[in-house]
Amino acid sequence: MYEHDVVVVGAGGAGLRAAIAADEAGADVAIVSKLHPVRSHTGAAEGGINAALRDADSWEDHAYDTMKGSDYLGDAPAIETLCQNSPYEVIQLEHWGMAFSREDDGRVSQRPFGGLSFPRTTYAGAETGHHLLHTMYEQVVKRGIEVYDEWHVLDLAVTDEERPEDRHCHGVVGYDVASGEVSGFKARDGVILATGGPGQAFDHTTNAVSCTGDGQAMAYRAGVPLEDMEFIQFHPTTLPSTGVLISEGVRGEGGILYNADGERFMFEHGYANNDGELASRDVVSRAELTEVNEGRGIEDEYVHLDMRHLGEERITDRLENILHLAEDFEGADGLDEPMPVKPGQHYAMGGLETDENGETCVGGLYAAGECACASVHGANRLGGNALPELIVFGKRAGYHAAGKEMEPAEIETGQRGEFERATVDSPVELGDPGSFGDAVADGGAVAASGSADADSVLDSTVEQARQRIDTLLHSDGIHHSEVRADVQETMTAKVNVFREENGLKEALREIRQAREEYENVAVSDPSQTFNTDLLQTIETRNLLDLAEAITVGALARDEFRGAHWRAEHQERKDDEWLKHTLLSWNDGSPELWFRPVVLEGEEKTYKPKTRSY
Ligand SMILES: Cc1cc2nc3c(=O)[nH]c(=O)nc-3n(C[C@H](O)[C@H](O)[C@H](O)COP(=O)(O)OP(=O)(O)OC[C@H]3O[C@@H](n4cnc5c(N)ncnc54)[C@H](O)[C@@H]3O)c2cc1C
Repeated sequence: MYEHDVVVVGAGGAGLRAAIAADEAGADVAIVSKLHPVRSHTGAAEGGINAALRDADSWEDHAYDTMKGSDYLGDAPAIETLCQNSPYEVIQLEHWGMAFSREDDGRVSQRPFGGLSFPRTTYAGAETGHHLLHTMYEQVVKRGIEVYDEWHVLDLAVTDEERPEDRHCHGVVGYDVASGEVSGFKARDGVILATGGPGQAFDHTTNAVSCTGDGQAMAYRAGVPLEDMEFIQFHPTTLPSTGVLISEGVRGEGGILYNADGERFMFEHGYANNDGELASRDVVSRAELTEVNEGRGIEDEYVHLDMRHLGEERITDRLENILHLAEDFEGADGLDEPMPVKPGQHYAMGGLETDENGETCVGGLYAAGECACASVHGANRLGGNALPELIVFGKRAGYHAAGKEMEPAEIETGQRGEFERATVDSPVELGDPGSFGDAVADGGAVAASGSADADSVLDSTVEQARQRIDTLLHSDGIHHSEVRADVQETMTAKVNVFREENGLKEALREIRQAREEYENVAVSDPSQTFNTDLLQTIETRNLLDLAEAITVGALARDEFRGAHWRAEHQERKDDEWLKHTLLSWNDGSPELWFRPVVLEGEEKTYKPKTRSY
């Protein structure tokens, strides 16, 4: 068994920032990651990081834009924490040597991004995430923080008290990809999950194959509620054949969207008369699909994004990466022709419920980054607001887990304070089909008795994981890829930009069927080393749980808010729905409940207004 004060799971932007903070606070910290840190998906981030750096800008304006972008479903304490702290965090990155793009006078450049009232997106070409990861990884190496890379975390070692709020997380169980060794990682002070989003629940996504929401699923099954999972962001500019992202930076620099008739439809069809292409992402995605559905799409599938008028010098200076992506994946030369684009799954606004300090309702368990929901993005994330979330909340989680004194959080987690139990009209039984054995594909049952000490909780979780792997390696049955492909197709067809009740119910039926098929899953590769077949089988179980949570939330929320569009409910219902959806695993029988959104900020209460761009 390995032992540290703080164990950070995940080495993307959130995990690296959390580890650096925990180290700064004096903890013995380790990072456990299924990928080498600089291969983490944060490296794919292109466009930039929002921070109010200029005198003419303010954190208050950033907070207002973020709240408006969230369609009034973000919690004000979290939004204000983000906007107050992101300038300091960006300056910290600059001091660590991050290669930001600069103006002629040497200041860090900022560009306009969708939904922002000020050009406040700092960037490093169109490779911001790559530079961010490398800058922070240098700090990790410099500080001698231990990194267990290519260790895949299978489960959390959590006690089994009845109420999740009484449970405690003592560590994690890891699987060494290179050797097949299964081992416990004991965390004396805290475990921080920074495992990224669940984009692979969809088949047309900008997210890498590694984005399987493992941390979300593990913590959900251990008792942490999933919050606002229905809010999935579909990015308006992804390449049709692969889902590869064309950064919002293209529109930020002045790129224009055209339909098959050559119309600049964002203005000519009145989708966003003020901001046009730079309206918020949900608005632009719906506009594009409406154009396609009404027969004005190209090849009935996509629209054109044109940046030729920006000129070669500006394009190669600020968007060079985009030229390569369009050429390599679509054969389009962005200097000479428009690029084909369509909406694709991009980001999960929801995630593990945390407060502003990254703490979940389970003792000793924290979450930060895309896997978490501190409730900054609400119903729709603004472009450029995820990267500051990683560094602001990653740092706070790192400090808190390492025992640094923090301001008490204003957001309450778990079933404490004000909450309301709810039901959903599901056509099938939700959750576990009932016969998943602990040792087969479940990997989720809370591990050990509450009275047990940390070592025995870890030992029994490790033993359970070993049995599970053994069973998977020695069974005959269906291959995980069939189950995964079915779920991905279902989600893309029925839980997409446009959602309707019957489609959502069909999706739940299909997910249930996939769960039942998964009961007979087996691994075809018996090897002990680099067994990606085994690991993808385990990831597929996570995707099943998360696909169900997304769909349940989408069915329950019978209103149109932010990225969540419902055919039968075409208005935002503030009287009824200024609340978060939460789903608790409840030993395999998911339970839905609601908690009111917090609109009271430090000095003002945000009043919901009509959201127009
Ligand atoms: C193509 C693209 C472009 C984007 N551009 C921008 C942008 O310009 N600006 C912006 O603000 N946002 C952007 N985003 C969003 C933003 O990049 C992501 O939300 C963010 O990088 C996620 O970071 P993370 O640290 O939470 O997770 P990730 O970077 O995904 O890292 C997850 C980490 O967890 C580890 N992990 C996962 N599961 C396990 C497991 N079971 N065991 C061990 N380790 C595990 C992985 O190895 C990895 O190290 C973009 C997103 C995409 C997809």
